Amino acid sequence: MFKLNQSAKHFQQAQQVLVGGVNSPVRAFKSVGGKPLFISHGKGSKIFDVDGNEYIDYVGSYGPLIAGHAHPKVVKALQQSVEKGCTFGATTQNEIALAQLVIEAFPYIDKVRFVNSGTEAILSTLRLVRAFTNKNKIIKFRGCYHGHCDALLVDGGSGIMTLGMSGSAGVPENLVNNTISVSFNDKEGVENAFTKYGKEIAAVAIEPVAGNMGVILPEADFLTFLREITKKHNALLVIDEVMTGFRHGFYGAQQVFNVQPDITCLGKVIGGGLPVGAYGGKKEIMDMVAPLGGVYQAGTLSGNPLAMQAGISTLQMLKQTETYTHLHHITARLKNGLEQLSTHFNVPMQVHQFGSMISVFFTSSKVYNYDTAKTTDTDYFARLFWKLLEHGVYLPPSNFESWFLSSAHSIEDIDKTIAAFEQSFKEIV
Ligand SMILES: *Cc1c(COP(=O)(O)O)cnc(C)c1O
Repeated sequence: MFKLNQSAKHFQQAQQVLVGGVNSPVRAFKSVGGKPLFISHGKGSKIFDVDGNEYIDYVGSYGPLIAGHAHPKVVKALQQSVEKGCTFGATTQNEIALAQLVIEAFPYIDKVRFVNSGTEAILSTLRLVRAFTNKNKIIKFRGCYHGHCDALLVDGGSGIMTLGMSGSAGVPENLVNNTISVSFNDKEGVENAFTKYGKEIAAVAIEPVAGNMGVILPEADFLTFLREITKKHNALLVIDEVMTGFRHGFYGAQQVFNVQPDITCLGKVIGGGLPVGAYGGKKEIMDMVAPLGGVYQAGTLSGNPLAMQAGISTLQMLKQTETYTHLHHITARLKNGLEQLSTHFNVPMQVHQFGSMISVFFTSSKVYNYDTAKTTDTDYFARLFWKLLEHGVYLPPSNFESWFLSSAHSIEDIDKTIAAFEQSFKEIV
């Protein structure tokens, strides 16, 4: 019998001392109902909850764990690193090594600054683009999530979308006055914004493949269009690859869509499961950051030795091309399997995929922006989510989060997952 008694007990305790029992909103399972799982440990493609249930994991900590849980190489490197001390407040060799790996994979990054999260990377970037251009307005896209910095929470994806919120309380109007929110894939919307505010726009910030409203691909020339229009108006193009970086190959989505940003934001995979973010770009822009320039940005634990080591170990594994061959193979197998089930059970389901990210929308319409994503049947997703848990598959507890495959997922895992979906579809329909 499938039981979650221990998880329920832990959640009860957690709610007394942690806000909502969690430290990040989507973890509370609000959009699928019921109580969240408490995880005891993970190994490879699997996680185990405190009741002893085993699941094939598609959350992957929401992106960082591209090599799976507790990869022996990462664990060993961390053990060696921790013995030498956790933090010094001085630069270490590993910061150079991780920066070199990042720059190798992202040819438009001349110099990089490491921070502790994706959020920090974005908010530092906003300060920098405003300083560099001497302008204040930022264009962002509805349903894209760039962390929880005030200015970009407007129409955010991820938890904001999951909870049906339009932004956040506690953000003064003067902090969002400079945010212009346009639909993803909407060229005309971007053109209109530039016509109206062209002289005031510092930057356009975008997830090159939206991954925080479910996975949504940019239309063919959307990103190159953004490159051209920003150049024309002396605005910068910020590509937020916190999720997409290293997900398709040892490079970013910017390479896949052939677009050259001014600044790239990174996080998730480059920390290998430890807290890391980064922003980097053209030398003349990055040199405006302190200590070289007047844009102040700092961090007690920035470039933390343990975090750098986890990132280096992970990226070194990703440099072996067979890692991506395997990732592409298993992701395609899962996508095909799901599409066949959708036809077989006559469930209207769009399967979207980029690299080793995948998500589904339960709708018969084409999904290309926030509004079409919202047509997905979230009740159906919630029922499917719980059935899949019973059958040993752990998806993100929201229809608007990407699922992440790792190099630790085997073909057998994928086939078991497809069988679990088949069983779940049977039991729901
Ligand atoms: C996760 C994410 C962020 C925020 O990163 P945190 O480390 O959670 O602060 C920013 N941008 C994108 C595209 C993300 O997916």
